[in-house]
Amino acid sequence: MKVWIDGAIVEGDEARIPVTDHGLLYGDGIFEGIRIVARRVFRLDAHLARLRAASRAIALELPGGVAALREIVLETARAFGEDEAYVRLIVTRGVGSLGVDPTSCPTPRVLCIVDRLRLYPPELLERGIALATASLRRPPADVLDPRVKSLNYLNNALCKLEARQRGADEALVLNQAGMIAEASVANLFAVRGGELLTPPATDGALEGITRATVLELARGMGIPAHERTLGRFDLFAAQEAFLTGSGAGLVPVASLDGRPVGSGAPGPVFAKVRAAFADAAPHQGTPF
Ligand code: PMP
Repeated sequence: MKVWIDGAIVEGDEARIPVTDHGLLYGDGIFEGIRIVARRVFRLDAHLARLRAASRAIALELPGGVAALREIVLETARAFGEDEAYVRLIVTRGVGSLGVDPTSCPTPRVLCIVDRLRLYPPELLERGIALATASLRRPPADVLDPRVKSLNYLNNALCKLEARQRGADEALVLNQAGMIAEASVANLFAVRGGELLTPPATDGALEGITRATVLELARGMGIPAHERTLGRFDLFAAQEAFLTGSGAGLVPVASLDGRPVGSGAPGPVFAKVRAAFADAAPHQGTPF
């Protein structure tokens, strides 16, 4: 693991932040998770644009702006040196008083971690994962907009924990209307009647970069692909379902709450989309 911190790149176990950083005390900050594929940082500019939008949404200045962060990501990726890896770019509110007041934090802190990451074992990716519907709902936009990729991931962590404690691999997370938002840290797609469907971000999903890529690739292959509000009904009625995320990759869903989704195995549309993604991804990044 390599970490960019305070202007230098160090080994993972040498990186230290003060305990009064509001990222730690209050989860006050934002982040991006980005894949390195074939020695390129996948869709780096899209990730930086999303980070910039989040920074504006929480009134957090990006030190040096997007251009500086771009260089930090490329420099840390170079230091790690592997062709396939995962980048975690973090901007916290920085050091401040023990109180919550963000105005006590004069300087945001940037961290960039590059390491290997594998969220699911390969055999599970072949078989398909089991989802369990979480009892916790995703917070609505008037509480904490899920489109902000913030350091407040307690909701996501507890949804994941609940799914794991019930013997499932991953959580299906609903919004306060009982409709599907996404998984704990990945977007959800369903295939119904030959169409590829995913909930709109306003239903409680992150505007996923992998999700956007899959929508583009599907349309390019002539598969109708739409954002649509979905319920658990749609998953039980679906022919196929899968998750997408930078960390997770493209992950087929085998079951929901103990019942098979579609045939209970990865389907033909998933196979097509996964192949198209594997072909396209190595060409969609910024080399370092
Ligand atoms: N939803 C959430 C809550 C996430 O944290 C993530 C990324 N980790 C995603 C969806 C997937 O987004 P992306 O494809 O941009 O990684």
